[in-house]
Amino acid sequence: MSLIDALAAALGPDAVTGPEAIPARNMADTTGLPPTRPRALIRPRDVAGVSAALRLCHAAGQPVCVQGGMTGLAAGGHPGPEEIALSLERLVGIEEVDPDSATLTALAGTPLHSVQEAARAAGFVCGIDLGARGSCTIGGNVATNAGGNQVLRYGMARANVLGLEAVLADGTVVTRLNKMLKNNTGFDWTQLMIGSEGCLGVITRVVLALHPDPGPVETALLAVPDTAALLAALRRLQAAFPAGLMVFEAMWGEFMALAEERLGLTPAFAPRPEICVLVEIAAPRARVEAALEELIATGLAGDAVLAGSGRDRARLWAFRETPYEYHRLFPRFAGFDISFPRQAIARAVAAIRDEAAAHWPDRPMALFGHVADSNLHVIVGLPEGAPDGAAIEARIYALTGRLGGSVSAEHGIGRAKRRWLGLSRSPEEIALMRALKRALDPRGILNPGRVLPDPG
Ligand SMILES: Cc1cc2nc3c(=O)[nH]c(=O)nc-3n(C[C@H](O)[C@H](O)[C@H](O)COP(=O)(O)OP(=O)(O)OC[C@H]3O[C@@H](n4cnc5c(N)ncnc54)[C@H](O)[C@@H]3O)c2cc1C
Repeated sequence: MSLIDALAAALGPDAVTGPEAIPARNMADTTGLPPTRPRALIRPRDVAGVSAALRLCHAAGQPVCVQGGMTGLAAGGHPGPEEIALSLERLVGIEEVDPDSATLTALAGTPLHSVQEAARAAGFVCGIDLGARGSCTIGGNVATNAGGNQVLRYGMARANVLGLEAVLADGTVVTRLNKMLKNNTGFDWTQLMIGSEGCLGVITRVVLALHPDPGPVETALLAVPDTAALLAALRRLQAAFPAGLMVFEAMWGEFMALAEERLGLTPAFAPRPEICVLVEIAAPRARVEAALEELIATGLAGDAVLAGSGRDRARLWAFRETPYEYHRLFPRFAGFDISFPRQAIARAVAAIRDEAAAHWPDRPMALFGHVADSNLHVIVGLPEGAPDGAAIEARIYALTGRLGGSVSAEHGIGRAKRRWLGLSRSPEEIALMRALKRALDPRGILNPGRVLPDPG
C-alpha cells in the first residue's frame, strides 16, 4: 500500500487531499514566496490522527511540513514539493478556562482571536497579541515564540505558556498540561518546543497562563526628538507605570512620511518629528496626562496627542498599522525583523540609514518597531523585478551581526533566514541545536531545511 493510501486508511479519506485538490492557503505562508504544491495535505481531526500520520511518515522517511494559520513570515510553513503538509486547521477548540489557576487550555489550531475572546469572557486577558490575530493559531504562536504588541507587559509567547502537549516525529504523544507556576520536576521539554518552529515536534495542545484584566487603557502618540530621548521616555514611563505600560511602538520619520504622504493619513505633528511613539497605558487618565506633561516639560517629547475616544484611538493605531497597506505602494519589499541591545539602537538606525544612502538611495524605507523589546522592523520597497533584494539583505544582516543584534527578533528563522543564523548564534550553539534535532527527529522528517543552516 502506498504511504498516501496508508494515511487515508488511518485518518479517513477526507483527512487526506491529493496534490491537485490542495487549497491555495496550504501552498504558501505570508512570506511572499511563490506557492508550492506539496505531495499531499493531511488534516487530522484529533491528536490520535496527528500521531498516526507521523508514525507512518516516520516509518517511510517522508518529510512533513507543519502548518498552522500560515501567517508566518519566515517560510517555515511554506511546503516543499517533496513534502506532505500536515495542517492543524481541524484541531480547533477551547477545552477549558480555569479561573482558579487562571489558565486556558486550547487545541493548537485554535485561532488566537478565539483564545483572546475566551479569556476576556472569563474576565482575564491573554498575554499574546499580534496583528495576525484573526488568522494565526495558538500552536503557531507557540511554535514561533511569537512576540507582538504587548511583550513589554506580558513577555513573548514563551512567558505565557505553562503546559503543552506535542507529538514527536515518530508519533509518540508527550503530554504535560501543567497548570502550576511551580513545578520543577526534571527537564522542561516544553520550553524546548517553544520557538522550535515545527522542527522538534508538532504542538497539539497549549495551556496558557492568563492575566487579570488591567482595566481601561489610555492611548497617546508622542513626538520625540531622537533615539536617546526615546529610550529615556521609555524608562520614565516604565518607572511611573510599572504594571500599566502596555504598548510602546516607535515609528521613525521615514515611516511617518510614507503613512502621511503616500497613504494619505492626516499628519500627526507639524513639523514631522524624528520619531513618533504610540503608547498605551492602563492607568487613570489624569495620571497619564501628568506623565505626558512631564515628558514635554523635560524635553523628552516635543508634543503629545492623547486619544479622547475610541475613534481617536483607532486614528492613532492607524499609523502603526500602515505596513499592512504597503502592498499598495510597492510590488515587492525586503522586510527585516531584527533586534539590538537598547543602547545600540541609535547606532543601528544610523548605520541602516548610511547603508540606504550609499546603496539604495531611491528606495522607500520604513523603520519602526516594538522598541521596548529591542525590536526594529525595517522595510525597503522594491520595484517589480529589482535585482537588489539579496544585496540589501546581506548588508542589513551584516550590520546586525556587527552591532551584536539578532537576525530574527520575533518572526523566527524558518527557510528564509537560516543562512544568516551564524551571525547571531555561535558554532557551538548551532552544534547543540543539531544534536537536539537528531535526538528528537533522528530521520529528519519534521520541517527539514528550516532553522538550521546547511552543514559546512
Ligand atoms: C499582519 C501580520 C502581523 C504579524 N505580527 C507579528 C508580531 O507582531 N509578532 C510576531 O512574532 N509575529 C508576527 N507575525 C508573524 C506570524 O503571525 C507569527 O509568526 C505567528 O505566530 C504564526 O502563527 P501561524 O499559526 O500562522 O503559524 P504558521 O505560519 O502556520 O507557521 C509558523 C511556523 O510554526 C510552525 N508551526 C505552526 N503550527 C505548529 C504546531 N502546531 N506545532 C509545531 N509547529 C507549528 C510551522 O511549521 C512554521 O515553521 C505577523 C504576521 C502577519 C501576517
